[in-house]
Amino acid sequence: MLSCPFEKIHPSALKRDPTYFMSHAFNLAIDAWNADEVPIGAVMVHQQEIISSAHNQTRSQTDPTAHAEMIAITMAAKKLGDWRLNECELYVTKEPCPMCSGATITARIGKIFYGLGDPKMGCLGGATNLHELERSNHKPEVFAEVLKEPCEAIIQEFFQKQRRQVSA
Ligand SMILES: [Zn+2]
Repeated sequence: MLSCPFEKIHPSALKRDPTYFMSHAFNLAIDAWNADEVPIGAVMVHQQEIISSAHNQTRSQTDPTAHAEMIAITMAAKKLGDWRLNECELYVTKEPCPMCSGATITARIGKIFYGLGDPKMGCLGGATNLHELERSNHKPEVFAEVLKEPCEAIIQEFFQKQRRQVSA
């Protein structure tokens, strides 16, 4: 696999808005690509500070559960010394899968922001809405399409390159 053709985004730290935090998640997606992983990155934010960050590691760890969100959530809970993450925000470049969507609810994460939606496997609005289970007592706020363009482009390009390599 060729190294990632995308450039990291360096947003100003003065404006800590969703685009700022998603830029960090996007930069982790680039790191994932360069580690030969599917380019998805995630950061956890608490009181406007990034407290954990990760990219996909399913290939290097040979672990189907080693998604960026799962790793970032575990690290954040350890750091705060609390498994309840109501005061946290998760930023992830692609809409969480069933496992990760489930983890965001189990962890009681307050707000979730994602870049690219996933109509096949996304469970926070794309394929289904796990965050709106009628009888669940935790319903996180979900914000889609934050910095969507680069988050989408990097995944498309990654799989296109992979297909070309396979067929070559
Ligand atoms: Zn996942």
